[in-house]
Amino acid sequence: MQLPLPKHIDTTKVLEAIDPAKDVDGFHPINAGRLAAGQQALVACTPLGCLILAKTVAPSLKGMEAVVVGRSNIVGKPVAQLLLREDCTVTIAHSRTRDLPGVVRRADLVIAAVGRPQMIEGSWLKPGAIVIDVGINRIPAANGKTRLVGDVDFASAKEVAGAITPVPGGVGPMTVACLLRNTVEAACARRGIAVPEM
Ligand code: NDP
Repeated sequence: MQLPLPKHIDTTKVLEAIDPAKDVDGFHPINAGRLAAGQQALVACTPLGCLILAKTVAPSLKGMEAVVVGRSNIVGKPVAQLLLREDCTVTIAHSRTRDLPGVVRRADLVIAAVGRPQMIEGSWLKPGAIVIDVGINRIPAANGKTRLVGDVDFASAKEVAGAITPVPGGVGPMTVACLLRNTVEAACARRGIAVPEM
């Protein structure tokens, strides 16, 4: 199901009508609960993509200070659960967080899922930090057109970060790939066959 739904539709009701075994988005409360409890679950695709991307540059995230900016049910909270499972020390920041730049500056790993164009600046980052930019924002560009940018100011951040994902072309394609991965996983589980190496 594509979120957000129009206002007149009850999102909770629709989510709960999905069979958790077919919930390839990982949004059903059963899967969210299983993830929080550290159990086998279908995990939300964008958070899973973020984790896979971070592990390409740091195969072990153990002991890292991770700051997740954003606390939505579809990105912020599940990505925080995944990072906790990887033994990170996780802080979840949001619109009421005091001194956000100071909080972000502590992070070895930053996950930006805010929905505010280029909000996180290079000067907020710890040198060498891994930065995963989930944001997809359309802003005005020259010649009356628009362009996509993330929640991180890529130009200043790339000078400080150890690794950073671009927008577009970073987390977005990973979300699609993880949706296919979850679909294969769910199909195998429902038929009782082994999940292939992915
Ligand atoms: P939501 O709007 O549901 O959540 C945004 C979060 O950011 C909220 O927790 C909000 O805090 C927090 N926030 C807003 N403003 C600030 C601020 N000034 N300082 C600190 N925190 C702030 O967004 P989503 O999680 O659904 O999406 C986030 C971004 O990721 C969007 O740009 C979206 O388009 C993109 N996205 C990209 C995907 C991909 O595949 N690449 C998939 C899904 C989303 P509070 O809770 O206090 O309001």
